[in-house]
Amino acid sequence: MQGAKHWIRDLAVYEPGKPIEETARELGFDPEEVHKLASNENAIGPSPLAVIAMQSMAAKMHRYPDGGGYYLRRELARHLDVPAEGIVLGNGSNELIELLSHVFVGPGTEVVMSDRAFIVYKLTAAAYQGEAVVVPMKGYTHDLEAMLAAVTPRTRLVYISNPNNPTGTMVAPEAVERFMAAVPDDIAVVFDEAYVELAAPERCPDVLRYVREGRSVFILRTFSKAYGLAGLRIGYAVTTAAGAELLNRVRQPFNVNAMAQVAALAALADEAHLRRTRGMLVRGREYLMTEFTRMGLNFVPSEANFMLVETGNGRKVFQDLQSKRIIVRPMDGYGMPEMIRITIGTDEENRSVVRALEELLKQEGMGYS
Ligand SMILES: *Cc1c(COP(=O)(O)O)cnc(C)c1O
Repeated sequence: MQGAKHWIRDLAVYEPGKPIEETARELGFDPEEVHKLASNENAIGPSPLAVIAMQSMAAKMHRYPDGGGYYLRRELARHLDVPAEGIVLGNGSNELIELLSHVFVGPGTEVVMSDRAFIVYKLTAAAYQGEAVVVPMKGYTHDLEAMLAAVTPRTRLVYISNPNNPTGTMVAPEAVERFMAAVPDDIAVVFDEAYVELAAPERCPDVLRYVREGRSVFILRTFSKAYGLAGLRIGYAVTTAAGAELLNRVRQPFNVNAMAQVAALAALADEAHLRRTRGMLVRGREYLMTEFTRMGLNFVPSEANFMLVETGNGRKVFQDLQSKRIIVRPMDGYGMPEMIRITIGTDEENRSVVRALEELLKQEGMGYS
């Protein structure tokens, strides 16, 4: 393929969470018996109200979707108390990261991000020939002072993932405030809040306020995590009317399908489902922290639905856990080869992963260090 752009040919390939079916096929398991704790999905599934909405939409799939996402954007605007003109729907919030790169990144531009932040920021910057300026974290948390110091006249985007994937940490509201007071207003600041519905509200910076103040910000959210709709691919950006206009110029007219729009609308209204999800998560986090402490394993306390734990040789632990029917995520791609990331699942899944890890560590002795 001689004609391919050289910087595309050189791109690193994203390693997604391993699908259940693939692991089951490779090891001869029944897919029903495999626990996937690798992609931070909601273990209790989608809201039952979303399922009903999707069923009634199924018979109408011969029609194109509403390209403007009118009803969902209107409801999100009400929910978040921001103008609907500033909301842009995406095919997952990943598409919005792509669209932001399309709008802001090109040769000679820089994109500031943390070294242990969501890896898609780095990949999309490279796809548009921007330079990723990678700033080391401090104690598994974004170092906003160092990120501010990394801003130059060539900077076009700054990514702050909060809570961050894969570390599960949050930056404090005061740190965000200091950063926003000092960052030049012509630089677009992206707050990726994929897990915000799962974090303790009192620890979350109120970044929607910057949108209302007309600052140059993009807040990315998704229905993939707390709302349990990862398979549908739907997320959204909250920004100013001017920010939305830019994203809409590069957005395909029917980027978000009709089934996703009605399901998201129903999920947004199902507060009971969100409460159940949070309840499961709070229990799971406590349980895992207690068990890891008992087992003498270091972990990073998390504000989200996953946790980093230090097992030694994470790639091997990932492989060995699959033979115990559990898929987790190795972290060598994030420069943390001694860690794995475990999605917090149902009580039963959490017990299974603890039991399996304990067996492996006993079996291997020092084998993972
Ligand atoms: C999961 C995730 C996303 C995006 O998910 P979509 O399914 O594309 O909406 C974005 N940012 C972070 C940090 C994530 O962990």
